[in-house]
Amino acid sequence: MPKIKATYLPAIILVEMILFNLDKFEYSFLKASLHVVLQSVLVYGLLLISSKWLMLRALISLFVASALFIQLTYGAGLSVSIFISMLESSPSESFAFVISNLLPTLFAVICLLSMIFLYVPNTKKVTAGALSVGLCYLIVPTILFSQTLYSTPEYDLFRRSGIARGHPSWFTSIEYFIEDLSHRFPPLITIRGITDTISFMTTQQNVKSTWTAVSHIGSSDLLVLGIGESLRADNMGVYGYKYDTTPALSRLSDSIDLYTRAYSAGTTTWSSVPSVLTKAASVPDFSKSILNLAKDAGFETFWLSNNTKHSEWDFSVSALAEQADHIYFSSDHSTENRYDSILISKLSEALATPSSEKKKLIILNFFGSHFNFVDRYPEDYAKFEGGNLKLDRYNNTVLYTDYIQAEVIKLVEKYGGKYLFFSDHGLIHPESDTPLKHDVRRDPDIDSVKVPFFVYPKTKLSIQVDDVISLYYF
Ligand SMILES: [Zn+2]
Repeated sequence: MPKIKATYLPAIILVEMILFNLDKFEYSFLKASLHVVLQSVLVYGLLLISSKWLMLRALISLFVASALFIQLTYGAGLSVSIFISMLESSPSESFAFVISNLLPTLFAVICLLSMIFLYVPNTKKVTAGALSVGLCYLIVPTILFSQTLYSTPEYDLFRRSGIARGHPSWFTSIEYFIEDLSHRFPPLITIRGITDTISFMTTQQNVKSTWTAVSHIGSSDLLVLGIGESLRADNMGVYGYKYDTTPALSRLSDSIDLYTRAYSAGTTTWSSVPSVLTKAASVPDFSKSILNLAKDAGFETFWLSNNTKHSEWDFSVSALAEQADHIYFSSDHSTENRYDSILISKLSEALATPSSEKKKLIILNFFGSHFNFVDRYPEDYAKFEGGNLKLDRYNNTVLYTDYIQAEVIKLVEKYGGKYLFFSDHGLIHPESDTPLKHDVRRDPDIDSVKVPFFVYPKTKLSIQVDDVISLYYF
């Protein structure tokens, strides 16, 4: 191991821990500093004790550095949302993400390499001292207050969400214990992210229909359902945004019902879409999906997607898509980026193909305003510029989506069908600290989940246009 000056390592750890605790400094400089020092001592102690075993030291370093990277890029600890989003990203998406977060990436890599390879002066006294101070800091408060820890309303809520996810109560109490420790050592939240991900991925995948007594009493034999992507209602002209990002929909406003208070069922695609398109109790029941329902009612079903199809991790949205009679994923046909106009041509093909007198349900899954914004619209739609670059580009994606939606409506009108559109979720407010990102915080802002929802043509539903709608109950 290269013997670079050891003083660099504590300094690097200190900077890392300051970044982890930035929000704490807002409340009390003194307290935050104390946390930073004690956390640094803990990490240093862990690196000292593992310095003889490179693999172990590398693992500890990776654990801390990756948590730091997530903190810097998402402003949150690693959660199941972030984990699955990362697993589902295609190589080009991951690359785009790294490029747009170059500084945090560089910093995390420097920290990682330093923690693994910088020489650590290893005397038993220092090691024992650092470890015991660090571990005491970590564990003693939780043990001291363990009586009250498990008798709070927060724990009750946590326990019930654990039961809903199928965990035994002993597992939930350990999870909660780690959760409490993570208040003093933020990288520990990663453990929860990993266990949540495993439990999510190993839950039910029954795709056979379990609907009973299905019949069709509707008036239309052609139903088209559009699912938007990362589209904030508050960034749309028709929803009162200060810029005219939706001129086409504004022109159509006499023939569509625009629901003004619709909220998404989640803040990520994988958490939202299955909840919307299935009958969800505590978790989505894939056997009771809208696709199975439509098929049982005699509809021919289509899933046309401009999203990436995810190979082995495709347990949520793609698993639903697999239930359709006809499946199209643009990513199956080309690795290059395609605009949502591809779905217009696929829709018109599907509409033009005669179906043996069957009714049709066509689901369109747009790429919409998914990160990386600049890749989502052709140059002609780069209308917003000169302001905040990220926001301008985002607004351009909205402008392009507006055009696409008007094209869909034209086709649906031509074939006498009905169209319903909503977005899977919004994004964090453009003027926040983490602008226009998925709101993966435990308590997302309300405007991150406020989404567009409209129906063409005007159709009498049992809900009013100004009713509060949760797409969870779609
Ligand atoms: Zn999404």
